[in-house]
Amino acid sequence: MKKITDFFKNLPPKQCTDCGEIIEEQHESYLNQCDKCLRNGDL
Ligand SMILES: [Zn+2]
Repeated sequence: MKKITDFFKNLPPKQCTDCGEIIEEQHESYLNQCDKCLRNGDL
């Protein structure tokens, strides 16, 4: 298996479009919001 983290390290950090917080790469995601804002937006 290749290191997926190495792949992500080459990418600029993703920022939440809502609060500007840096989004930690947890999984391959197409979302541009942090977990906190995602939950709030779902309400
Ligand atoms: Zn946010």
